[in-house]
Amino acid sequence: MMSRLAVRALALMACLVLATCSVAGQQPMPSTLEDAACDVSSTLLFDGTAANRSISEQVDLGPRLPGSNASLALRTIMLEAAEANGWTAETQVHERHGMNLTNVILTLNGSAATPRTAVVLSAHYDSRNIADQDLNASNRSLPVPGANDGASGTAVLLQFISIAPQLNLEHDLVLFFNDAEDQNQNYTEGAEAWADNLTDEDVERIESFLLLDMVGDADLHLHNIEPGNQTLKQRLLALGAALGMVADQTDCAGELGEDIMRYNVTTAVIDDHIHPHALGIPSVNLMDPVYGESKSGTFGSYWHTMEDTPDKVSAESLERVGRLVEVALRTGALLDVDPQEQPEPNDPGSTATDVETSSAPSRNSGLLALGLVGLLLILGLIGTAEWYLKRS
Ligand SMILES: [Zn+2]
Repeated sequence: MMSRLAVRALALMACLVLATCSVAGQQPMPSTLEDAACDVSSTLLFDGTAANRSISEQVDLGPRLPGSNASLALRTIMLEAAEANGWTAETQVHERHGMNLTNVILTLNGSAATPRTAVVLSAHYDSRNIADQDLNASNRSLPVPGANDGASGTAVLLQFISIAPQLNLEHDLVLFFNDAEDQNQNYTEGAEAWADNLTDEDVERIESFLLLDMVGDADLHLHNIEPGNQTLKQRLLALGAALGMVADQTDCAGELGEDIMRYNVTTAVIDDHIHPHALGIPSVNLMDPVYGESKSGTFGSYWHTMEDTPDKVSAESLERVGRLVEVALRTGALLDVDPQEQPEPNDPGSTATDVETSSAPSRNSGLLALGLVGLLLILGLIGTAEWYLKRS
């Protein structure tokens, strides 16, 4: 994902005045979903230690740059596991900005009769080609190790290749390993190419899109990432509370949770999920946007540096996130999502903020909201202009 200071002030202003900034943390918790989570919480399969091994394996391959041998080797790992576990595999090659990127789309058919719906889990499997945030100037032309930024989401998805067939899901499950998320000043290229090629029928049958990016940070704090579907966030927060991932909330065992899902803090991020979101598919990004020390205008002091190494990632964090996703699948939390808060199709302007923003008090005044619609429109237009200017 990318981060830019230029729209920081706009994002902060929008966040301070919009009730949606902390909406995910303000909703009543759907107790039935929490109960469903507790019913399966003692039989979860996701193994953080195995996921953590994958981090080192991926980093040991070398930089997973689009078109590289390391990228090919990682795809071979995906495809061999997919074949061994009964998935249908498809690779899609696109040429963008002089790169040949390769998306990998694995589908596990659900048990329901056709027509079937689908849930998409996605992560970028490329690693960034330049450590342009590194404090050491001589490192800035080197490719990052990508232990968290790249390998973490990929490690979680890789494990679902073997876990998902045991879950007896009725719907199809798609694991979308996207390429070229993070190359030079070109971001989310693989996800955009995938979204561009979806038919209306495809869009219609995708119930939800769940992105995992930078989920392995040993000091894990998942933020409320905007844009994102509020219903999905609310459900994930309820499931996370059941799994002990929300401070001041009791988990299934009656213990107080840890401060992991910090959904009272909103961070706006342009990432792969913006493309399905713009198509009206309920989409959400699970991400910890502070990797290392908090550093203004960035996603933390390790982000896009040579410090993004396996020792900064932990099995515990990967297990937290992997199990949250597993519970979401097993409880049906990713199905039948109200898309009411989706933007108009092809309107990325409403998603065009990508910098860290602060948490803000929720304000529910209808009058205030009405009065702010005009301001929002203006901010959206400015944001759109910024977004396109910076991308071009
Ligand atoms: Zn990145």
